[in-house]
Amino acid sequence: MNGKVWLVGAGPGDPDLLTLKAVKALNQAEVVMIDDLVNPAVLEHCPNARMIRVGKRGGCRSTPQAFIHRLMLRYARQGKCVARLKGGDPCIFGRGGEEADWLAERGIESELVNGITAGLAGATNCGIPLTLRGISRGVTLVTAHTQDDSTLNWQALAQSGTTLVIYMGVAKLADIHAGLLEGGMPSAMPVAMIENASLPHQRECRSTLGHMQADATAFELKSPAILVIGEVAATPAAIQMAQSA
Ligand code: SAH
Repeated sequence: MNGKVWLVGAGPGDPDLLTLKAVKALNQAEVVMIDDLVNPAVLEHCPNARMIRVGKRGGCRSTPQAFIHRLMLRYARQGKCVARLKGGDPCIFGRGGEEADWLAERGIESELVNGITAGLAGATNCGIPLTLRGISRGVTLVTAHTQDDSTLNWQALAQSGTTLVIYMGVAKLADIHAGLLEGGMPSAMPVAMIENASLPHQRECRSTLGHMQADATAFELKSPAILVIGEVAATPAAIQMAQSA
């Protein structure tokens, strides 16, 4: 009989932010395939599992997606319970949906298990409410990095009236800055750049759209980081503004 694959979100780093469902899946797993950006501290929940690192950073050569697919399939066909552990949430820039589909096409059962995505954790840890009554009526999660190098609709993003949470943006600050300014966003728009969200070495740099590149350079901002762009990124000032409105 085939085994099962859990596509599990490991959260942003802090092991206390794992979901109970993720902990249960890790407990049952016999094989754990570990992605980049997963804090090794979460592996205490699967002490007896076989661990396979399939990350693309940390000096390792990139593990091709096709290889990861085949590995999941092989263990599932051996009847094993496999946990595919991904940073944050498996369905936010995490290929969770693609992998679930691929497994389903081959008759392998899978289950997606939520994790807290880095953008939400980073903002909350810095005291930034991503939505705020009277100030921000929504949130847009967006990646600055596209596989085909196609450009984003910056104008729509700049004028959406929502808080923008940008993933994979560190190497794309120039594009983000230019795109949003051209799209009509004021250069005074507050920006928070949050590195290693929820980890003990989390750092945050507050800036504005106009100054974000210079400030990021001075701060030596490094990946992984998320950018929060919108009035709420000036919290606590944004909260005072909302209260007096
Ligand atoms: N599935 C993940 C996102 C993977 S894409 C999630 O839901 O969080 C990788 C990007 O996520 C990084 O480039 C960075 O923008 C962001 N990221 C992941 N972990 C992070 C962390 N601890 N702090 C800040 N950004 C993080």
